Amino acid sequence: MWTNRITKTWLVLVVAVGLAGPMAGCSRNEATGQMQLNLLSEEAEIKIGLESKDEFIKQSGGQLPDEKINRYVSLIGEKLAIECERPSLPWEFTVLDSSVINAFALPGGKVFISRGLLEKMDNEAQLAGVLGHEIGHVTAKHANNRMTNALIAAGVVVAVGAATDNDWAPAIAGGVAGIGQLKFSRDEEIQSDTLGMRYMTRAGYDPAGQLQVMQILQDASEGPRPPEFLSTHPLPQTRIDRIEQELATTYAQTQNNPDYARNADRFKSIVLNRLSKLPPPKHDPANQQAALAEPRHHGSWCACGTH
Ligand SMILES: [Zn+2]
Repeated sequence: MWTNRITKTWLVLVVAVGLAGPMAGCSRNEATGQMQLNLLSEEAEIKIGLESKDEFIKQSGGQLPDEKINRYVSLIGEKLAIECERPSLPWEFTVLDSSVINAFALPGGKVFISRGLLEKMDNEAQLAGVLGHEIGHVTAKHANNRMTNALIAAGVVVAVGAATDNDWAPAIAGGVAGIGQLKFSRDEEIQSDTLGMRYMTRAGYDPAGQLQVMQILQDASEGPRPPEFLSTHPLPQTRIDRIEQELATTYAQTQNNPDYARNADRFKSIVLNRLSKLPPPKHDPANQQAALAEPRHHGSWCACGTH
């Protein structure tokens, strides 16, 4: 899992570099309006994103070998990021040469989308929906919340351990393992969907694209290779209901309104046509497993991934 590798790295970084600083604290989150206690400062979030991203890209097939698609995805991501509540983060949008169906954001504004997910889409509004959703996880500081909880839990364990002279190391190790399962909650997913719709609409996209993405993920979940996205971003019916409800109320004026684009033709000519001409993805866990099961090909796929 992408997230398991990353979150373990985060805690190690936080502890090793002492990133929980005096600048962090309780404040109202501009995107969600909620009061949050975040022990990681913005500087710490940026540092974690920067220090994790290269390894993450390397382990996920590397960047897609097509400059035009990369630039196109970056431009759309930047259009959305300008509209969010944290526009000054060092936003970066990377397409991974991986067949898995996933998208992910690191704290500090590093967003990733897989080739496998792009291939399932058919318009730009859907892409804006996914990127907007990932931006939403960053603006709502969902990962920061998890790290804060883990740090508090670790601190409490240390304090109790020191007071009673117990060996607290195993308990800390347990805490690390716990945050390795970074899976966003239903509420966090719904919050990110809502924020994603906010940003995509501000950028001039039809927010119905967000609903289409849910349909794509649902259809793919019934296929032979269920999206990895769903193991880290749960998709209960409540998420779909909420998006439908917002389309019918908050965003009613955007429907059948030519000011809110889907740009299917541009997406097809720049993304789908070019993807179809590229060599197979470098990171392809399904083929990797098949190759490992077949002794004649053993080892031929070993270099590309860690799944
Ligand atoms: Zn999500």
